[in-house]
Amino acid sequence: MTRLLARHALLPDGWQRDVLLEWDEGGSLTAVRPAADDAHAARAQWVVPGMINLHSHAFQRALAGLTEVAGDTPDSFWSWRELMYRFAQRITPEQMQTIAAQLYVECLRHGYTAVCEFHYLQRDPDGALYADPAETARRVIAAARETGIGISMLPVLYAYAGFGEQALRPEQRRFRTDAGDVLRIVAALENERDAQVEVGAAPHSLRAASVAQIRTLIDGLPAARPLHIHIAEQMAEVEQCLAYAARRPVQYLMEQLSIDARWCLVHATHLSADECTAIARSGAVAGLCPTTEANLGDGLFPLVDFLAQGGRFGVGSDSHVSQSPVEELRWLEYGQRLRHQSRNVAAQPQQRRVGDFLWQAALAGGAQAAGRPLGQLAPGARADLLVLDAGHPNLAGAAPEHVLGSLVFSGNDNLVRDVLCGGRWVVRGGRHARQEEIGARFKAACAALRSA
Ligand SMILES: [Zn+2]
Repeated sequence: MTRLLARHALLPDGWQRDVLLEWDEGGSLTAVRPAADDAHAARAQWVVPGMINLHSHAFQRALAGLTEVAGDTPDSFWSWRELMYRFAQRITPEQMQTIAAQLYVECLRHGYTAVCEFHYLQRDPDGALYADPAETARRVIAAARETGIGISMLPVLYAYAGFGEQALRPEQRRFRTDAGDVLRIVAALENERDAQVEVGAAPHSLRAASVAQIRTLIDGLPAARPLHIHIAEQMAEVEQCLAYAARRPVQYLMEQLSIDARWCLVHATHLSADECTAIARSGAVAGLCPTTEANLGDGLFPLVDFLAQGGRFGVGSDSHVSQSPVEELRWLEYGQRLRHQSRNVAAQPQQRRVGDFLWQAALAGGAQAAGRPLGQLAPGARADLLVLDAGHPNLAGAAPEHVLGSLVFSGNDNLVRDVLCGGRWVVRGGRHARQEEIGARFKAACAALRSA
């Protein structure tokens, strides 16, 4: 079955009726025709493009919920990181695949059809490269293939413990790479690339990668591959960058490197007005992770000023305290409502419906950050779509203009019923075909890791 007739489908120019969607064996859309009919096609009521999760550290799924106990000192990002380090020392490649597979089943069931994996756990527990330097990256890609989600694998450049090329700490030994290591891993992954798998790269941050190392990485990376970096997530990072370079992080990045649409700046939480303008003008995507940023106490991104200047954004689940794009978009908007004491803050003059704007804008930004043809129901794009649960009370009698508002802002039931990803039905009736088997593996892996 390579056709679907949608009573209502969200196309790039908005909701259309009676849309016939066709895709090919390779999983790409070949035709999208509104006002069509087809007596033989399967039918659905509400169809929207699947969301792109533009920032994931898959192994952190196994820590979600374990870091919510206060310590003796004010808890912060940095104390969370200490626990993450201890956990990361123990994970085997097999466990990494299992944890990623569980995460990707959850992501698919909640409406993500693609993920950008910011992958930094690359060495063995002793700090040596595996015989295949891409061993752990390949495991994560294998998890994506097991579950059917599309993936942009971003091996991470992680060379230093802090600004000024500070030596890594012992607990960071599994993360250690220089630009040459990352380029070798990228080359080793060349045979994994296909319509569902892209490979880019990610300097971890200006703390963990020097400008010289980042330049070497960019020079060696094939053109047009996605580049992601964490930036300005915490005020301590801003202060350290000011002390090191007399520049704020985004200002320093922009001065030192040519930042353009190939880049995704993850978090970009703490910006001056000039930095906010600079990102918007660069064409880079701001990679916003509202539930993780809230969980870690990072701060609030200046969304209103950024959107007013045409800035592009997408959302990611990052530490995986949530696996739902609904929750990311809801908290993105709610953070702004609380800050500005206002409603429908992200709505724009050209799109007054805030749910529609958030979903469409995050699709466009996510697709750009993934470096894959995603985020729209249009010929040539991947056949990645969600069929919403037309029988759910939240959608009873709904008009198209209220569907995404209901999806993003009403209740906690999962309205995603069926998920087509790369032309394959991977979720039917809310269930992933392999969720029991993968769930059992995940529970066994967690039991081993959490008791160690
Ligand atoms: Zn991150």
